[in-house]
Amino acid sequence: MLICKQKIFSVSLAALMLVTSCNNTKQSDKFPNKEEKPINIILMIGDGMGVSQISTMFYFNPEDSEFKRFEHIGFIKTSSASNKVTDSAAAGTALATGHKTYNRGIGVTPDSVSLTSIMKLLQNKGYQTGLISLSSITDATPASFYANVTDRNMQEEIARQLVESNIDFFAGGGLKFFNQRFDGLNLTSLLKQKGYLLDSLVLPASIKSEEKFAGLMANDGLLPKHEGRGQFLKEATELALNRLSGSQNGFFLMIEGSYIDWAGHAKNSEFLIAEMLDFEETLKVAIDYVDNNKNTLLIVTGDHETGGVSIEKTNNSDSVVVTFKTDQHTADLIPVFAKGFGEEQFRGFYENTDVFNKISILTGINKNIGR
Ligand code: MG
Ligand code: ZN
Repeated sequence: MLICKQKIFSVSLAALMLVTSCNNTKQSDKFPNKEEKPINIILMIGDGMGVSQISTMFYFNPEDSEFKRFEHIGFIKTSSASNKVTDSAAAGTALATGHKTYNRGIGVTPDSVSLTSIMKLLQNKGYQTGLISLSSITDATPASFYANVTDRNMQEEIARQLVESNIDFFAGGGLKFFNQRFDGLNLTSLLKQKGYLLDSLVLPASIKSEEKFAGLMANDGLLPKHEGRGQFLKEATELALNRLSGSQNGFFLMIEGSYIDWAGHAKNSEFLIAEMLDFEETLKVAIDYVDNNKNTLLIVTGDHETGGVSIEKTNNSDSVVVTFKTDQHTADLIPVFAKGFGEEQFRGFYENTDVFNKISILTGINKNIGR
């Protein structure tokens, strides 16, 4: 802008033209797309969701898989700074901040220096923000987007940082980290003081556009799908999109299908398929939203694979079964699906940290990264 001013003062004849061109530059810096509007970001993370988990939806979903609606697909390598096989903390940190860290680290470098997440960077730009998780909202995956702690187990500190984070909408479990704390603080009162509409029983039918929502729907995580969670993930996503889409400055929404990972750890195929079906129902809501709102980018990926899942033939017939090689995470490459504004940028093979870099470039946070 300094250069623009100097030119305007020294070349008076061209002043009007230059003012116009400077304004244009400023506008496109802020909104780097044709329509000059901010790009909404919906990031769906299936915890523990690799290629085989997705493949189950091509064999065990009676409907056509929602994944078929993607045309732009890439693969990420998920290894952390400390281990070839990552945990959800280091993987969440890589997706959220663009930095590899050690397993168990949340939003910090390997030297424990705090990092700024994509959600925070967009919030600083005026975006409204939302987080949805089926586990505790203070668990590693959602925490990577707002917290900076040296170990994922510091859930009371993570809850304190969530209260300070000014997120417009969050829903998940983890109530006990807010109201049954060792330090005696009641963070639910603090959330109410900050103007949050807080509920720990049911999702409201709607939320006013200026209202913040804190949904702490269970003491710990929510129930697994096959034990009766209902349509929480889908309904919370619809509610969040409804609330956040009123934002004139864009929004960022992260949605986590947390229990795909748990099903892998439990080596339980019924559990896995129920969680994948639930994820697909939510995915339908997100893809439909992108189809109807061109200024939105949907990215769907996993943080790592869990269970060494494969789909094997059975002895006696042409049928297939889901099997598990391990009850641990694996180092499999993980697919990334993108739809909407900038979708083609997500093709190819890259590191999990590049998901952050690509979103940064598309939203105009940092045009220099990765180019
Ligand atoms: Mg998780
Ligand atoms: Zn896990």
